[in-house]
Amino acid sequence: MKVIKHIEKAKGNTLFSFEILPPKKGETLQTIFANIDPLMEFNPPFIDVTYHREEYEYKELPNGLIQKIVTRKRPGTVGICAALQHRYGVDAVPHLICGGFSKEETENILIDFNFLGIDNVLVLRGDAIKSEGAFHPNVQGHSYASELARQVVDMNQGKYLHEEYSQGATDFCIGVAGYPEKHFESPNLDTDLYYLKKKVNAGADYIVTQLFYNNQKYFDFVDRCRKAGITVPIIPGIKPVSVKKHITVLPNIFHIDIPQELVLELEKCKDNKSVYEVGIEWSIQQCRELIDYGVPVLHFYSMGRSENIKRIAKELF
Ligand code: FAD
Repeated sequence: MKVIKHIEKAKGNTLFSFEILPPKKGETLQTIFANIDPLMEFNPPFIDVTYHREEYEYKELPNGLIQKIVTRKRPGTVGICAALQHRYGVDAVPHLICGGFSKEETENILIDFNFLGIDNVLVLRGDAIKSEGAFHPNVQGHSYASELARQVVDMNQGKYLHEEYSQGATDFCIGVAGYPEKHFESPNLDTDLYYLKKKVNAGADYIVTQLFYNNQKYFDFVDRCRKAGITVPIIPGIKPVSVKKHITVLPNIFHIDIPQELVLELEKCKDNKSVYEVGIEWSIQQCRELIDYGVPVLHFYSMGRSENIKRIAKELF
């Protein structure tokens, strides 16, 4: 079922969902199931599975020549989605990125999703690969998530890249990313909002936000979206802090602020065990306020670990 149908069906009650990463190459599906199983008691209607593009490595050969090698640490998004739908009977939401994909490859992966009975897709641009510094699209692919969303909409109308056939029309529900504290490449909040609206106008059915620790940033973001005429559901993304180094790592990776009040609490902690507890408590308070505000879903970034999310969900659902 589509994410927006799940939201409609919930009639204003806040749903619980989460996002997992495919395991690293060589690990097994059991790693994933071990993290998902403890969260199933909270009845997630959908589970997101991230997509990780390839990286390039340059290896020096014995003859002195340099060989460019393509590696991918976490392949398997499509297979994992199929396994989740089969094992748990929940809707899997694969992430699909522009980076590294030609339009033909995108079409093929969407055809696979459709064959597998996957009804949702979160479309994203993707980040730059480490060796490149800035994002470069595939020459035959898309530069922005709005273009990728348009390709999905075309397929929903039976328009494939090289042929049209209405009987083959897909019916994907399309999610896109939103940034309460703005996307790091955007010059300001207004420009970022302008392009977010473009994504929604291209056909997005809902928005999932970047993680944040200050609810006011989410509330302001929702206000700005509504004033700009964006009416789709805006799902907040939550990630509990779990180790002290998150104080610097999270702002660095996700380009978000950590409120001073939380930083002071974390700095008081003598070890990561107490940091873990502070992180859980902060998320519980954050989520309680978001539920009171009436958010459609609380979407947790599990990053492959579920114990803290389980403890938070137990307090809320
Ligand atoms: P876009 O919406 O394309 O925007 C990218 C930048 O370009 C923004 O600054 C925007 O303002 C600007 N822009 C947009 N359109 C235009 C235009 N037409 N002209 C000029 N500027 C424009 N990454 C992964 O690799 N895999 C994942 O699974 C993944 N999952 C994610 C899930 C969520 C909920 C979020 C919030 C992020 C996720 N990311 C993932 C990270 C994401 O790929 C990066 O944040 C990326 O840098 C931007 O993606 P986007 O879809 O928001 O890009």
